[in-house]
Amino acid sequence: MNATNIDWATRSWNPIVGCLHNCSFCYGRRFAERGMGEYGKHPKGARFKPRFLPERLEEPLKVRKPSRIFVCSMGDMFSPGLTGPDVLAPDKVLYTMTQAYWHTFLLLTKHASEMYLWAKGVAYYPRGDSSQRPISGLPPNTHWGVSVTNQQDADERIPWLLKTPAALRWISVEPLQAELNIAEYLDPWRRADGMTRQFIKQGVFNSDQTDSMRSPTVQWVVVGQETGNRAGRVVPERAWIASIVAQCRAADVAVFMKGNLAGVWGEELIQEMPK
Ligand code: SF4
Repeated sequence: MNATNIDWATRSWNPIVGCLHNCSFCYGRRFAERGMGEYGKHPKGARFKPRFLPERLEEPLKVRKPSRIFVCSMGDMFSPGLTGPDVLAPDKVLYTMTQAYWHTFLLLTKHASEMYLWAKGVAYYPRGDSSQRPISGLPPNTHWGVSVTNQQDADERIPWLLKTPAALRWISVEPLQAELNIAEYLDPWRRADGMTRQFIKQGVFNSDQTDSMRSPTVQWVVVGQETGNRAGRVVPERAWIASIVAQCRAADVAVFMKGNLAGVWGEELIQEMPK
């Protein structure tokens, strides 16, 4: 497990590496193709194929200082490609996260439907204590998110995220490549039908009922741009970023701008954490 210079995390942990999604801007694959760092010892030609590295499974348990840990920064935990007994690797990763309850674990995927299908079938023991009654869903010290870069990604992936039984959901818009409308996903009231809205206005529901109607929702949006200067790189427009901030403000959702937006944004970056 390593310290990281990612703005919103303090460490990264990669018990599963690799991914078959083949994004053109993938940082992890660039590392793998160059045989750098943790990929240096991997078999040539298969470097970015998803792999479970069980020897890393217990690393978070050895760090006592509470940390914000980005899980699978060098891959995607829900990418197809794990085979044989390794298909159970996400369950093992989840178990470690429940045992290391003093940390906050942050996960991101582009395989949102796979995440949902897996998550709806899991249960966890509070603090990893198997003498306790298992609870279905995902533990509160784990934050689950989807990566989107454009409207099509958002419309495909966020609905799966909203169904995922997580205590905290987030969206990483990175790299931002186009104007994005995610307002209806951030504010559950916008998804309510006309009659429900009318009933809410008339006070038909008590506050517990309206609170439960507000969830599931998204609590945090992170925005960033592609790093490096390679050909074809899209530099986001300031108006695209301002629009995302406005949508988050309207829905009372925390927003976090990555440091690489400083030049485009031109004023102090907004870096809020979820409540
Ligand atoms: S989904 Fe993530 S890990 Fe997979 S190729 Fe794309 S950027 Fe890389």
